Amino acid sequence: MTKIHPQAYFNNKIIPIESANLSIASSAVLYGLSVYTVFPIIVIENQISAFRLNDHYTRLINSAKIIGIDTFEKDWNFEKFITAIKELINANTLNELSFIRVTVHVTDLVPGTRSRGLATTLSMFIYEANPIIPQNGARLKTSVWRRVPDSSIPSRAKVNGAYVNSVLGKQDAIDSGYDDCLFLDMEGHVCELSAANIFMVRDGVLITPSQSSDILEGINRKTVIEIAKSLHIPVVEREIDLTEIYIADELFACGTSAFIASIIEVDKRKIGNGPITQKIKEVYTEIFEGKNEEYNGRFMTNLKS
Ligand code: PMP
Repeated sequence: MTKIHPQAYFNNKIIPIESANLSIASSAVLYGLSVYTVFPIIVIENQISAFRLNDHYTRLINSAKIIGIDTFEKDWNFEKFITAIKELINANTLNELSFIRVTVHVTDLVPGTRSRGLATTLSMFIYEANPIIPQNGARLKTSVWRRVPDSSIPSRAKVNGAYVNSVLGKQDAIDSGYDDCLFLDMEGHVCELSAANIFMVRDGVLITPSQSSDILEGINRKTVIEIAKSLHIPVVEREIDLTEIYIADELFACGTSAFIASIIEVDKRKIGNGPITQKIKEVYTEIFEGKNEEYNGRFMTNLKS
């Protein structure tokens, strides 16, 4: 069982997590009309910091904007957002790397299938940072379900209701004895896993589906690209065929809850473990251990008030 910290942030205050409840008549419950993000909280000695908080805040605002939830941005500027996170952290005891899940819920009761001008509330809670897939040898199955296209429910927006697509793909993979699914788009090109982006290495080049490939614009994806460029590894963002994945030299997934996980098998085809994945993992680990001055200086927000 995932450990959840006892105090949550809900309706502008700190309350016990068991009291943080939404109405069964709210659009959040009726239609999955909520947007969210999850980011890591890094605890090193007395220091507590968040990784790329600005990017997470911006993506949350953008998700709300895409869906037409227009009351959130007016109510929540970045300063208020950080203040609420600090309150939540001070209300709990954090000793280890954890995740904070922040959700903007549409709370109006039975307003019908619409999004504009409706009331929202922001919830936050902290939970244990357990990886969602094995870190050194994940096995994937191509999903029987296709990724929802941008023209239906955009993957670019992190909308709770859209995660039914991820649930279908992941459960199908688990039922078939795999760790996670590999989603394809409607044309058969590679998108991502159920909750992580994908990278492959071919002939020394790091390749990942472009941002217009029905993927979530992952913040770790962006970090991996930046790390690779700093290591002088060429990076290409383009369409990927499934059969390229089968013959990739290396393959890995990345995301907040996947961290960087090497993939060793897709649809029974074995993939090698290699030096580029290892190098990127090393830098990524340094960042999370607070040992990379450049990235720590640029991307960590101190949350000790
Ligand atoms: N794709 C999907 C569908 C996800 O849910 C996630 C996890 N948030 C990612 C990719 C990775 O995104 P990030 O690096 O921002 O965690």
